[in-house]
Amino acid sequence: MSLARNALLRASKSTWLASQMTQRAFARRAVKRFMPGERLSDALDAAQSLVPSRVGTIITRLGETLTGERNLDEVRDHYLAALDEIARRGLPTQVSVKPTQLGLDDSVEECVRQIAPIAARSAQHGAMLWIDMEDSSYVERTLQLYEQLKATHEQLGLCLQAYLFRTPQDLERLLAVRPAIRLVKGAYAEPADVAFPAKQDTDDQFMSLGVRLLDAARTGGAFPVFGTHDMTIVQRLVRTADEMGVAPGQFEVHMLYGIRAAEQRALAQQGHAVRCLVSYGDNWFPWYMRRLAERPANLWFVVRSAFM
Ligand SMILES: Cc1cc2nc3c(=O)[nH]c(=O)nc-3n(C[C@H](O)[C@H](O)[C@H](O)COP(=O)(O)OP(=O)(O)OC[C@H]3O[C@@H](n4cnc5c(N)ncnc54)[C@H](O)[C@@H]3O)c2cc1C
Repeated sequence: MSLARNALLRASKSTWLASQMTQRAFARRAVKRFMPGERLSDALDAAQSLVPSRVGTIITRLGETLTGERNLDEVRDHYLAALDEIARRGLPTQVSVKPTQLGLDDSVEECVRQIAPIAARSAQHGAMLWIDMEDSSYVERTLQLYEQLKATHEQLGLCLQAYLFRTPQDLERLLAVRPAIRLVKGAYAEPADVAFPAKQDTDDQFMSLGVRLLDAARTGGAFPVFGTHDMTIVQRLVRTADEMGVAPGQFEVHMLYGIRAAEQRALAQQGHAVRCLVSYGDNWFPWYMRRLAERPANLWFVVRSAFM
């Protein structure tokens, strides 16, 4: 892992830095590149603006590791209201949730209790609900959460991270529940005994997991989503899908707001199902540090914003 990436991922855990940065005007200007605004309405306006280019959206409210029943209920109720607002506006927008915002630190059962109504409301509006994957200490609990919820909520997807050694076994296990899987490379600082330190190994595992998902999709055994801006990988998987006879509607490509926007539009124009994940909320610091860590060159945007 590069020094800059390591330093940024460490910084993402600092509450002092978070409180400093979220108050600075230059940091708020810099973060706009990846986040249209802090309010739900900012995210939905961005979703609306993408409709003409046929790029669908997913929204997520930033913040992790909340505890206490009042907080959990507030997050659940926020997402229930957001789903109703999406339906009211008629947007092609889904929701993605972080399990630690909804009780995973308390127990898998508490988290099931909080997410079940969101999954039900989402399905009522005909949309898939997505579950994010957080750091490796949460993976086993998140898989159990997904398996339990998937038994009664068909339109439910889960994120898996290609950088973890365990993910091929996790995928085989989940194929038993006909999963929708958003495959990503992985965004957290992980020790060398759980995740590949070398990027090339992660990329190779992403490809092999992607092919495994496409193979399962052929018989309706999985719904693959490739959550990456790595256009070499996207193009290879799109070609592989074509060779395997997996139609464009049987898989999707997801990217983040503000990254590779032209490629998102181009893929959608070519007839692929593309979605852009739009984040919002005032607790954006750890998430923003992870975006900088993915591409330390992005630090220049922060520096430039300080002088704008
Ligand atoms: C829809 C979606 C959902 C995600 N959900 C999760 C999740 O639940 N859990 C999790 O651990 N991770 C999640 N991630 C993040 C993911 O793990 C990676 O950290 C992130 O996508 C960067 O990796 P990459 O696949 O784009 O490949 P990389 O090899 O890192 O990047 C490929 C190219 O994309 C461009 N690029 C990538 N990142 C940036 C950036 N920040 N700024 C500017 N350009 C960039 C660069 O040109 C780079 O060369 C998600 C990503 C997406 C797209």
